[in-house]
Amino acid sequence: MPRIPLRPLAIVLLLAAGTAHARTSHVPHQQVPGIYHQQIGDLQVTALFDGTVALPRQALTGLDAGAVTRLLEQGYVPEDGKGLQTAVNAYLVQRGEHLTLVDTGAAQCFGPGLGQVLGNLRAAGYDPADVDDVLLTHAHPDHLCGLLDAQGEAAFANATVWLSQADAAYWLDPASEAGAPQPLRFAFPMARSAVAPYAAAGRLRHFAAGDALPAGVTALDSHGHTPGHVSWKIDSGDGRQLLVWGDVVHFHAVQFAQPDASYEADSDRAAAIASRRRMMADAAAGRWWVAGAHLPFPGIGHVRREGEAFAWVPGEFSPLM
Ligand SMILES: [Zn+2]
Repeated sequence: MPRIPLRPLAIVLLLAAGTAHARTSHVPHQQVPGIYHQQIGDLQVTALFDGTVALPRQALTGLDAGAVTRLLEQGYVPEDGKGLQTAVNAYLVQRGEHLTLVDTGAAQCFGPGLGQVLGNLRAAGYDPADVDDVLLTHAHPDHLCGLLDAQGEAAFANATVWLSQADAAYWLDPASEAGAPQPLRFAFPMARSAVAPYAAAGRLRHFAAGDALPAGVTALDSHGHTPGHVSWKIDSGDGRQLLVWGDVVHFHAVQFAQPDASYEADSDRAAAIASRRRMMADAAAGRWWVAGAHLPFPGIGHVRREGEAFAWVPGEFSPLM
């Protein structure tokens, strides 16, 4: 073994470090584009980051504060004065030439921290005019405001938009707005204007159980967060399933371990808990891929059963086939 004198080695390392420092003096001030690709059978799935929203931990109900604190600390969830950092994600699914977008982000509805789905879709190399179908999980602003571009026009000029009959009946009806809790009323006019250009063009479809849907997709009833919330199951063509489950989970560090903890904005908390348990159990039993609108970006992975509770298993960064 040749003996390397310590002192000269240290000098070489210091010189190398100095050179590297000189070459990397440009510090980026922006994150890389919020795009992530995952191949699932015949599907090329692209997660599109819309931004983050702060949810106050007090919005979690049904679990004592000590347990909430313990789970949040174990999950290392970033938190500032406004609340817990919560991602907003949409998902583009390409099958052959057919493009399906599940949810659309918040666009202009929630301020400058959100609204990046359209830009990230373009950064991923897709033309919004090529999107064939937009599947909405529900009619909340962070899922449908992105139907409109910055000019208030249809962002997806050729797409058919699919919204459940139950959510359409609630969120598009001025009569239900008048009877809604005050903190929710702002969302009604946002929902009506987001779908307006599509409805005017005859490209807004309301569906109920048993109605025909685009090929290869199934709407699973997961109501409770909203009256007509659905989770979209997409057949990969090779026997695997992708479940794009929308707002089944808002607080990932808490609600996998404690599925009975709910979000105060849920329209029917008992139904939301039942739906969360059912979606998690089915996803775990079927070994389905799952994509979640408020799971840490890219929010693509699997659900593992742990007794009466569950755990989130993020997918691993992988080459495309
Ligand atoms: Zn949401």
